[in-house]
Amino acid sequence: MSSNRGRDTGPELALRRELHARGLRYYVHRRPIQTLRRTADIVFPRLRLAVFVDGCFWHSCPQHKTQPKTNGAWWQAKLDRNAERDRETDLYLVTHGWATVRIWEHELPDRAADEVEAAVRLLGSTH
Ligand SMILES: [Zn+2]
Repeated sequence: MSSNRGRDTGPELALRRELHARGLRYYVHRRPIQTLRRTADIVFPRLRLAVFVDGCFWHSCPQHKTQPKTNGAWWQAKLDRNAERDRETDLYLVTHGWATVRIWEHELPDRAADEVEAAVRLLGSTH
C-alpha cells in the first residue's frame, strides 16, 4: 500500500515545515508501533500521536473523491479497501493507546498544523 502513499508530498512537507516553525519536533515516516505494518507520516512517540496526511484521491476525501471512468468497479474496490485500511489503522492504534490525526492533503498547512498542535498540547498535558 505504500505505493499509494506519496512520500514527501507538497502538503506533507508544508505541514512539517509549519510544525517545525512552531517548535514541534517529530519523526517522519515511522511505524508508530512495530506490530503495525504501516508507517505514519508524522509521529510523536512520547505522546503516542500518529499523524497521517491523506491524499484526496487515494483516501476518498468527501470533497474531492473522483471515480475513474475506466475500470470503475476495480477502482472503487481499491479505493474502498484503502478507506477500510485507514479505519483499521486508526482502530489498531487507538486500541494500543495511541491517538491519530488525519489531515486531508487539501487542507491549508496552518489549519492542519492547528489540528496537530491542539492534539500535541492535549496529549502533552495528560502524559
Ligand atoms: Zn480533498
